[in-house]
Amino acid sequence: PYQYTNSRAAFDRALKVIPSGIYGHQGPTEGCYIPQSSYPLFSARAEGSRFWDVDGNEYIDYMCGYGPNVLGYGDPDVEAAASAQRALEDVATIPSTIMVEFAELLVDTVASADWAFFAKNGGDVTTLAVMTARAATRRKKIVFIKGFYHGVAPWTQKLDYPGVLEEEVANNLYVDFNNLPALERLLSENRGQIAGLIAQPYMHGNFVDNALPAAGYWQAVRALCDSHGIVLIIDDVRAGFRLDLAGSDHFFGFKADLICFCKALANGYNVSALCGTESLKDTVSSLSYTGSYWMSAVPFAAGIATVTKLKELDAPAQFARLGTELTTGLVSAAAENGFTLITSGAPALFYLRIADDDSLMLHQEWVAECVQRGVFFTSHHNHFMNAALTRTDINHTLEIAHEAFGIVRARHPELVATA
Ligand code: PMP
Repeated sequence: PYQYTNSRAAFDRALKVIPSGIYGHQGPTEGCYIPQSSYPLFSARAEGSRFWDVDGNEYIDYMCGYGPNVLGYGDPDVEAAASAQRALEDVATIPSTIMVEFAELLVDTVASADWAFFAKNGGDVTTLAVMTARAATRRKKIVFIKGFYHGVAPWTQKLDYPGVLEEEVANNLYVDFNNLPALERLLSENRGQIAGLIAQPYMHGNFVDNALPAAGYWQAVRALCDSHGIVLIIDDVRAGFRLDLAGSDHFFGFKADLICFCKALANGYNVSALCGTESLKDTVSSLSYTGSYWMSAVPFAAGIATVTKLKELDAPAQFARLGTELTTGLVSAAAENGFTLITSGAPALFYLRIADDDSLMLHQEWVAECVQRGVFFTSHHNHFMNAALTRTDINHTLEIAHEAFGIVRARHPELVATA
């Protein structure tokens, strides 16, 4: 198993000069995805389907930087496009026309897009979407689906979180995913007051099996939003360009009014986009909304190269195919060792859970054994496929996963039936 001596030393340094050392879900102090003892904390290099940590350990990476790595780290075509643009300019006083080219490409590619507005992070565009819905309807309330994640802006947080004011979340309404009667009730009770409904295309929450939409769910939500005059916002920051290059709303057979993209948009270059329907374009124009780096040209060049290559490869089909091979193989590897592994969500963003393990510790142990042998899974969060993953990578992953299940079984003879 791998050792993490240099990671630990770097983390000790980080704790002295950075709040919590590594903040958010990429750090160990939240304690939800990364048991500190069994994971690396700092990487040194990344290429293709792999990264190497500061102790020199190599990983096949199924987290893909939490999504941005969609073609493979350092994809040569994306890097060439970025370098060519960098030689011309990146941040300048007025924008490059490459911004227009990227918007044209997104309008041609994304079914519900008549325009594109660029920013940097996913949260920039989910916030813009909510402001747009409020400005367009002159209403205050926003419907959220329970288990959502739309970033870290105050409006996305919970009342009891530090630094969040009551006023900032006072207009948030919450409803369960796939529950149409509850949604109908909520909309009726708040008739004429709801500006928007914001939702991920399916529920890829943490610490729960991921849930796909029930048949007809999205079509019914679309009809309800239309009849109540509510702006339907799809947060495709995580699933975007992995299910369908035309947007995850297109994948599930409906049309969003606004759709938010970020992670897979430029293979790791820093750009996000809000796309939307013609009728909301003037509203977006009317808002006071921009940022220092939002028109930088290099990420646009990278984005054009990324989306173009994803189309050439028909990458979503590849993710579905290899993702299914991987998850099917993992379920078999688990069964051969007496475990039941539950896989959920889309294969391109598969979520894993060992059944009959309410404490979740068994699952964390298995994940840790995989990581310490060079397969980077994480606990309680969906994973991400990328186009650099080969069948050889998948087969190697399955061998390691099998070995890891065997180790956990040997450690817990009390828990599992004989294989
Ligand atoms: N929405 C979803 C569904 C996400 O997964 C994320 C990021 N994990 C965000 C919004 C926020 O994006 P960012 O962290 O780039 O602001």
